[in-house]
Amino acid sequence: MALNVTLIPGDGIGPSITDATVRLLAAAGADITWDRQLAGMAAVTAYNDPIPEATLDSIRRTKLALKGPLETPVGKGFRSINVALRKAFDLYANVRPAKSVLPGLRFSDVDIVLVRENTEGLYIGIENYIKVGEDEHAAAQSVAVVTRQGSERIHRYAFDYAVTHGRKKVTLVHKANILKYSQGLFLEVGRAIAKEYEGRLTVEEKIVDACAMELVMRPERFDVIVTTNLFGDILSDLTSGLVGGLGLTPGANVGKNAAIFEAVHGTAPDIAGKGIANPTAVMFAACQLLDHVGDTSRAARVRGAIEETLRARKTVTGDIGGTATTDQYTDAVISNL
Ligand code: NAD
Repeated sequence: MALNVTLIPGDGIGPSITDATVRLLAAAGADITWDRQLAGMAAVTAYNDPIPEATLDSIRRTKLALKGPLETPVGKGFRSINVALRKAFDLYANVRPAKSVLPGLRFSDVDIVLVRENTEGLYIGIENYIKVGEDEHAAAQSVAVVTRQGSERIHRYAFDYAVTHGRKKVTLVHKANILKYSQGLFLEVGRAIAKEYEGRLTVEEKIVDACAMELVMRPERFDVIVTTNLFGDILSDLTSGLVGGLGLTPGANVGKNAAIFEAVHGTAPDIAGKGIANPTAVMFAACQLLDHVGDTSRAARVRGAIEETLRARKTVTGDIGGTATTDQYTDAVISNL
């Protein structure tokens, strides 16, 4: 039976890299019915709403979406689309793998899966200015909210992920030495969950600043990382950089009732419409989608074809040192299937 998946082509380079991905999955024989929906600037142009109800309805129906990058329109009255989607579907786990494939980089043995808490922490949106005298912006505060329930489910997700994917180690990354309450609770819960996995996984704890240094010096020491929202956001761009940049790294946003797969990068307005964008990150995101629905052998085959094309480094796009167009690169991947 065909799998129904919501497809949000997105803005900028989004339509061309998602088209390339749809073409690749079809060539790999994936039986997917795509329900194309708008979000971002494309939806503002069509409906004056960056995240139309029809798009949300489609994801409620399919419970799965592949999404191109979206431009959040600047100006009051528009919600942040990515935050709205995470909230609407309670997509609490953001899974961002970074693996060495491209030859000739500083590191050749990076294979890290970063699991970022996606709904709490400093991204909860409780912020305000404090007026002192005539100065409306004399001070500002942003509140970090960490809950036991939110911490339990993200740690459990990361530990279960590690076990089911044959990983050996989970690193709990925190700043509990300074933020004793919010980060302290995250660590306390992580330690309790870690006990349940004793004997199956090695668990270590690292303070985020020390972790950042070690990631750029000895990234091969890391396996699965679990951390809070802001630290995960920053460290996952760092891990992208270890393996060749944002053009290569995907991200899955997973909740109990839906999952949305996307590239970590944005709409790349500087190269939009030129046909030269690198579609690899969305292609890898599609592999995460196939894994998610249990089509793991097809995911492995598609991933293998992408990796072979990247390793040969002959027909690759400009961002990683080649001269191929999006279409030429996609053809090369398809021929390696
Ligand atoms: P960006 O990721 O779009 O671009 C940064 C640089 O990387 C640019 O030079 C771009 O050309 C290059 N790049 C990115 N992806 C590439 C690809 N696949 N192939 C080749 N080169 C690539 O970041 P930005 O310029 O800060 O943001 C642009 C827009 O994207 C903003 O409107 C931002 O809000 C949005 N954005 C959306 C998402 C999302 O939807 N998940 C994520 C990040 C940024």
